[in-house]
Amino acid sequence: MATFRQRALDEAAAHTANRYFERGEAVSSYFGENVFDLETMKNYLSAQALQAILDAREKGTHPQRDVADQIADGVKLWAMERGATHYTHLFQPLTDSTAEKHEAFINYHNGRAVEEFSGEALVQQEPDASSFPNGGLRNTFEARGYSAWDPTSPLFILDGTLCIPSVFVAYTGEALDMKVPHLKSLRALSDAAAEVARLFDPGVKSVGVNVGLEQEYFLVDEALYNARPDLRLSGRTVIGHTSAKDQQLDDHYFGAIPARVSAFMKDFETEAYRLGIRLKTRHNEVAPNQFECAPLYADATTAIDQNMILMIVMQKVAEKHRLRVIFHEKPFGGVNGSGKHCNWSMTTDTGINLLSPGKTPEKNLRFLSFFACVLKGIQDHGFLLMTSVASLNNSYRLGGNEAPPAVMSVFSGSTLSAVMDAIVNGEEISERKEIKSTMDIIGTIPEIIQDNTDRNRTSPFAFTGNRFEFRAVGSSQNAAAAEYVLNTIVAEALREFKKGIDSLEAEGKSRDEAISVMIRRYFTASRPVRFEGNGYSPEWAEEAARRGLKPVRDIPEAYEIYHDPETRRLFTESGVLTEAEIEARYEVLNEIYVKKLQIEARILGDICLNHVLPAAIRYENLLIKGIKGKLEIFGDESLAETETSLLKDISKLCNALSKDVAALVEARKGANSEKDIAARAKRYSSDVRPLMDKVRKSADSLEMLVDDELWPLPKYRELLFF
Ligand code: ADP
Ligand code: MG
Repeated sequence: MATFRQRALDEAAAHTANRYFERGEAVSSYFGENVFDLETMKNYLSAQALQAILDAREKGTHPQRDVADQIADGVKLWAMERGATHYTHLFQPLTDSTAEKHEAFINYHNGRAVEEFSGEALVQQEPDASSFPNGGLRNTFEARGYSAWDPTSPLFILDGTLCIPSVFVAYTGEALDMKVPHLKSLRALSDAAAEVARLFDPGVKSVGVNVGLEQEYFLVDEALYNARPDLRLSGRTVIGHTSAKDQQLDDHYFGAIPARVSAFMKDFETEAYRLGIRLKTRHNEVAPNQFECAPLYADATTAIDQNMILMIVMQKVAEKHRLRVIFHEKPFGGVNGSGKHCNWSMTTDTGINLLSPGKTPEKNLRFLSFFACVLKGIQDHGFLLMTSVASLNNSYRLGGNEAPPAVMSVFSGSTLSAVMDAIVNGEEISERKEIKSTMDIIGTIPEIIQDNTDRNRTSPFAFTGNRFEFRAVGSSQNAAAAEYVLNTIVAEALREFKKGIDSLEAEGKSRDEAISVMIRRYFTASRPVRFEGNGYSPEWAEEAARRGLKPVRDIPEAYEIYHDPETRRLFTESGVLTEAEIEARYEVLNEIYVKKLQIEARILGDICLNHVLPAAIRYENLLIKGIKGKLEIFGDESLAETETSLLKDISKLCNALSKDVAALVEARKGANSEKDIAARAKRYSSDVRPLMDKVRKSADSLEMLVDDELWPLPKYRELLFF
């Protein structure tokens, strides 16, 4: 066999299940030991310093510089006791990853070394970081960028480094990251939601968002991963014929977790627990070698920050296990891709989940108000929300028959649908069955409680009992990008809702009447976006078009929504993004799309020229030799029919492949000649992508014909099964 592939397979076969981070104690005994949480702060901070952090979290103020010095002293003591030598501001640039620049505590004075950490260093860093995409926000005379501590998210220690969750802004103050708009959107939502919540309970001061992120991922053996240049460089396989067996039998889904994987999971869970990440579930997913984990939900900032940290931890721990975690949304053609379902709800500071319907949702005006506002927000800005997760990676997944469809719709479940229909039609709500009923199987099995929030897995945005679940978020994405859009559009709907009530009351309507009128208005207005059926069916695509719901098909085309005056008004009025920041995001998104596609197209070309064609030609030469030999021995061409027809097929495919690879290079050049980044992205989408599909088709056909012994790259059947 091709030695490269053989070596990788041998090496992979030698990798075994091992534990590297086993603690042997109850999780509760070490949970959160690497987090500077409230309990720890009480031991290390003065009352004044502690209060400053609490005020930041509860009142949105920021700690003064002198208090920051006090906080830094306490933090340094704690971090050094836990073996930390460095600190870093950890921020979330526009690339879906995290960024860090480590700085040592150690300082040197008159030949003496001393550990130092000042309030200044805690609060602010100037990482320069001028190479991050910034969409023109830093191209002017002043290219400096600053990171600043976000006191609403706890400090923690990872790998001997004190990590300081931070925002990242330009010299001029514009956001260069995901966290700034996220924090601003939380404020916008809290302000708007609290106004509406006070209609029902005047004691409500603020409304927070709870988020639970389910993280899907693939695992691949390190040796096999290293033998696939495409996986290494682009995170996905750009060629690869499907395996004869993959997910057809659903035998992997929820199956027994393989030993190596289970050891890996236990290890990364241990490390995550030490960081205070409240992991709850783990299981096999649909595709072979695909898995999922999910923590208990938390406030939105913690949930998002911890998800980013979890991804780092998983990658680090995987290396120990000689594994690679693949977070790409579609690493393998033909099997399911990965997402990051975003469960989302709103809670008052008094502890009420505003999306909890209770036993009688039809009578629960508060629930109906908030539910209606979410629907209205999605009705008005569903395309924008879908675009918030539109990326090259995610585009390989969305709209296929697995991930949510490319068009936005909301699933509410039969009970709530009936309630909404009745309200819209002004009908009495007829008797319906209890929300919870029980099911008796056989005597010995405890009774099963059925809830009626029937799940519709084909919906991109589903109500699941007391929260919404946005399922189109990609597995590698920073969930903040979707979440701040969701917060912003719901905040707008809530503001309008409250205005509507005010004016109805001014016209003399009672409070309850006014609320009922607004609920009915919103349910009526959001009828088009409600859909309970099969989101994968072709009928729905047609029906959605009739209802005026646009799918996100072409990614750069979708990004044009950021130039829509409605979008600009939405973001600027809510104070979440300025015009300049929106424009910067638009540019960065296009730039990332172009660069990623450019890399993929290059890798595809390289692999075809350096791996696929040489293997195919070697096999052609063997066939030619065989045909000639047979002719010499038998003097009868017909006895070499198999070889001849195989040779013909392979030759044709090789010709097509080299022609298409050459065309791909030309298409890339053509696209690159566009000066404007958005125009370039559109050319990449229209000219480069279709050619990549064509090239892949020939390469995958060759994989089926060429002698397995000669094939140089690990195949799907090898990559996808432990
Ligand atoms: P499923 O796969 O059935 O959707 P999981 O248990 O994998 O369910 O994940 C559900 C996620 O939703 C978990 O993170 C859970 O904590 C979270 N969640 C539960 N209730 C809420 C809520 N009220 N608000 C936000 N997230 C929630
Ligand atoms: Mg889910």
